[in-house]
Amino acid sequence: MSNNKIESASPHVLPSLPYADNALDPVISANTIGFHYGKHHKGYVENLNKLVAETEFASLTLEQIITKTAGKTDKTAIFNNAAQTWNHTFYWRSLRPKGGGEPPAVLKKKIEASFGALDACKKELATAAMAQFGSGWVWLVLDGGTLKVVKTANAEMPMTAGLKPLLTIDVWEHAYYLDYQNRRADYVNAVLDKLINWDFATENLG
Ligand code: MN
Repeated sequence: MSNNKIESASPHVLPSLPYADNALDPVISANTIGFHYGKHHKGYVENLNKLVAETEFASLTLEQIITKTAGKTDKTAIFNNAAQTWNHTFYWRSLRPKGGGEPPAVLKKKIEASFGALDACKKELATAAMAQFGSGWVWLVLDGGTLKVVKTANAEMPMTAGLKPLLTIDVWEHAYYLDYQNRRADYVNAVLDKLINWDFATENLG
């Protein structure tokens, strides 16, 4: 997980957004960011700190907590809040103002080797986003030397399955409902065309 390292031990802090709250407008409005970052993401961090206080998890890093609670039915609340804290920080970095377009050459070459073409990769991300029933995430991941698209439900994330995430798109309704209502496909396609941060994905290739 080292290349995707985000945050250290508790108290866990809400990282600053990497851009202004209106910088992704009009694809994602400042209103959406206000709730999504300012209420949802912040809430996961605060819940996590409450849940781990004075427990065996209090001195652990975010990633250690995720690893130790993944798949443990008696630790679901801690896992959910820790993973959602991590996933959202990774999501904000997966976007950027004036994103989209062509990936850097090193990533583009890998995309073409794994999917045939950039458009096929984007189409697979969009299809996975639509196929995710209910809340979840769609991810571009590195599996060994191959790029793949995976989707996860709720707070689940690819690292617990040994996959290295390169970028993600949040497909919980709170990510798009204020701007797109039920039109998840319009949100995902606009993100892929205008906001997706291929530079961040390239950094994560490691
Ligand atoms: Mn979210």
